[in-house]
Amino acid sequence: MSQAPVTFSFRRRAVARLLGWLAWLAAPVVVAVLIRKHPGRRIELSESDRAVLARFFSRDLLDSLVLICVDGIQPPRWPNSRAARLLGFSDRSILSSVAGITLGRVVLIDVASGPHNRSNHSASPELQDRQAFRSLVFHELVHVAQYRRLGMRGFFMWYVRGWTLAGYDYFAIPLEQQAYGLQGRFIERPGENFSVEEEVDREI
Ligand SMILES: [Zn+2]
Repeated sequence: MSQAPVTFSFRRRAVARLLGWLAWLAAPVVVAVLIRKHPGRRIELSESDRAVLARFFSRDLLDSLVLICVDGIQPPRWPNSRAARLLGFSDRSILSSVAGITLGRVVLIDVASGPHNRSNHSASPELQDRQAFRSLVFHELVHVAQYRRLGMRGFFMWYVRGWTLAGYDYFAIPLEQQAYGLQGRFIERPGENFSVEEEVDREI
């Protein structure tokens, strides 16, 4: 094996560790800014939404959820595009389209952006599409389960490490792949019951 990949890997891992720490420190501030910028309203899950989600998540996890609806999430942009390019980002936006953001047990849902789905960017006004709403909440609840498993700092270290080592490809982040995978099971096999927390514990 040549030396180059080892050096590259070492540098990537160092960057991943640094970015993980920065993300952990910055995330509460970013979420606070988002809530301030997009005043939202806290909502409770309806009885029917909760009944569906209770087939996949523990009562304890659902009880802990703080769900906030906002109308449009504008993700933070890099203050300096040159710095972004130096770090290897092609886009100035950290996330190009965001339907939900989860920090611990706090979930921000963008009611205007529809399902948290890579192939569907159509608008879903208000909460008319219950299945899309449930699917989006399901995805974010997987992240809540991941936070519970890894802890706040552990989540950011894993998330950013996965993102960095995957060449900053959002869909290649292992924690996102797990969330999309379980979300896919939820959508494609509606009759199946499984415990997301057990799946998360087994895989992480
Ligand atoms: Zn996600």
